Amino acid sequence: MTMSTPYFRVTSPPDGIALGPRTGILITPHGEVQTPAFLPVATQGSVKALSPSDVAALGGQVVICNAYHLALRPGVDLIEQAGGLHGFMGWDRPIATDSGGFQMTSLAHRLRISDEAVTFLSHIDGAQFHLSPESAVALQERLGADMIMCLDQPLNYGVDRDGVERAMARTHLWAERSARAHNPRSGLLYGIAQGGTEMDLREESSRFIAELDGTQGIAIGGLSLGEPKDVMWEMVDVSMPLLPPHKPRHLLGVGSPEDIVEGVARGIDTFDCALPTRVARNGALYTPQGRVDILNARYTRELGPVMEDCDCATCATHSAAYLQHLFKAKELLAYRLASIHNLRFIHRLFDDARAAIGAGTYEQFRRDFHAAYTPSDAAAREEQRGLWLRSQQVREQADLPEEWESDPGLD
Ligand SMILES: [Zn+2]
Repeated sequence: MTMSTPYFRVTSPPDGIALGPRTGILITPHGEVQTPAFLPVATQGSVKALSPSDVAALGGQVVICNAYHLALRPGVDLIEQAGGLHGFMGWDRPIATDSGGFQMTSLAHRLRISDEAVTFLSHIDGAQFHLSPESAVALQERLGADMIMCLDQPLNYGVDRDGVERAMARTHLWAERSARAHNPRSGLLYGIAQGGTEMDLREESSRFIAELDGTQGIAIGGLSLGEPKDVMWEMVDVSMPLLPPHKPRHLLGVGSPEDIVEGVARGIDTFDCALPTRVARNGALYTPQGRVDILNARYTRELGPVMEDCDCATCATHSAAYLQHLFKAKELLAYRLASIHNLRFIHRLFDDARAAIGAGTYEQFRRDFHAAYTPSDAAAREEQRGLWLRSQQVREQADLPEEWESDPGLD
């Protein structure tokens, strides 16, 4: 089996076959990405509180935007006229796009879904927006995306088995249609394995997506949606041996430091997650010992940086006491400085992980990380997730038409 394709090359381990941590080079129309890599989330074409040059300076090689949100506002015509998302944002490195599939979990009350297509009710102006597998691919191609996600149907944790089976069958049908619609001269197309938290369905979906022709990458989707962590890793562990080793693997929506270390250990090549920047804006900052709350009294008079030995611009220039003051005073600079620190922490974690894989010492790196790092507990995670979900249930100007009110939308 070749371990090198025109779009992905495994660089370590040399045979590339073994399951476990690996480094590689992802080759996209807008340049190369050293993997494993983290994709900061730029849903609306912006990593919140940071400019594209900030993101690049922090070590960001590729960002992920949301095609659905950008199609609603400002619209794909304008973005195309601006030279695609790269020209519009002023970012010349690779861009991934999510299809809008994920919005089926966060905007569930505002959509109708059938095998043919999803119909969203815009939260901006109430207009109906149709997304089919074919139009989702075309939209991402017009945006100029380097990594294109097939339209899929993820589910929140807790849906019954029948529902999971139906969503999986639809995801497979849509993946086939996406692969047929995809222009191979555009970005790399990622099929998405689903299957909820049912072990056998995860296995079935991973096999199906692995065997599907016409995709260049595989994403594992539908995780980190409220299920316990051990269940999440069981699902990843079911998938990994079934995925073709010569295709890059992306883990959708997962990106706390401890999850990154575990995902890399299992051979995941790329991750995206809004968590590092989202928690930063709530004053939660990463350190090698775990996440700390900048509002904690211990920082009130701390004139040293929030993290010793951090190489970020925030820690180089500003004290923890100043950061706490900015958060208390609700100064906008607080969001920017905290986001700089957290994103740099994450990218540096990947730098260190790649170096350890190259040196053959990843197991030691993983043990050392876990020995020092105390993850935030499940309650804290759920609280953060709840805050975020509520912020996503956008009501704004558009009211639901009456016939949508009585219908949950999901079949
Ligand atoms: Zn820092």
